[in-house]
Amino acid sequence: MRVALRDDDTSYFTSPERLHHVYDGVWTRIPVCLATVPFAIGYRRQGIPEAHWTSGETFPLERNAALVTELKSLVAAGRVTIALHGCTHQDYPDGYEFQAAPDPEARLARGMSYLQPLLDARVSIFVPPHNALSKRGLAAVSAAGLNHLGSFLSFRPSMRPWERGTLRNWWRVRRFRRATGRRRHDPLVYPFVLRYRRHAEFGCHSLVPGTTLDQLRRGFDEAREAGGDFCLATHYWEIDAAMSGVLHRFLDYASRFTDVRFVAAEGLFT
Ligand SMILES: [Zn+2]
Repeated sequence: MRVALRDDDTSYFTSPERLHHVYDGVWTRIPVCLATVPFAIGYRRQGIPEAHWTSGETFPLERNAALVTELKSLVAAGRVTIALHGCTHQDYPDGYEFQAAPDPEARLARGMSYLQPLLDARVSIFVPPHNALSKRGLAAVSAAGLNHLGSFLSFRPSMRPWERGTLRNWWRVRRFRRATGRRRHDPLVYPFVLRYRRHAEFGCHSLVPGTTLDQLRRGFDEAREAGGDFCLATHYWEIDAAMSGVLHRFLDYASRFTDVRFVAAEGLFT
């Protein structure tokens, strides 16, 4: 069984000290997939100065030179990997970036061509801002050949671009839902990679304020008993002592199983 860890929102607004504070005792055990925003535009969020919540100003990652230096060395050391987390992460009046931006294809191209050389990192995963992806957004991610690492994935054929895998994967998820006694709207994180023609998808469990060790253990146990894998997703900027405790105890729990391997998130798709 593979277990991976994803962290969202590294951007110009991230301090290397904060990442170190949260992950120094973690990335020595498991690589952290940092879903990174290449050209952040400020929005209302803890850790982003209030002056930038509505300024509309774009901040390329390289303007935080200390962070870029640190990320490059963490990538080289195998402690982090880099995923693309939107292009600007801006919110629109009628949706999040990859639901509402008029040009998702160009945003992916711009983000990829900027981030990879800047950080000397190969990027193969896309994490949509706010985990929100329109049909067109998903088609763009697929056309770019990026794997989609999300949370709250929807497999309903009406929500997705049509291809042969659409129906087949929908049935697989439905079968799992039934086999685990879930009704239609009960929450589910499907523990297997779903493959489509040009990309693959995997859903993550969330570590947010209030998440308990018990909840994570239940998700992990279910995935393990089904023969699946597990990915945990969180945000460094909201990890406090309590969440950090849950994270460490979860890693302790998972590492007790001899068949469990801690891998980079990219390893879930191989
Ligand atoms: Zn985000």
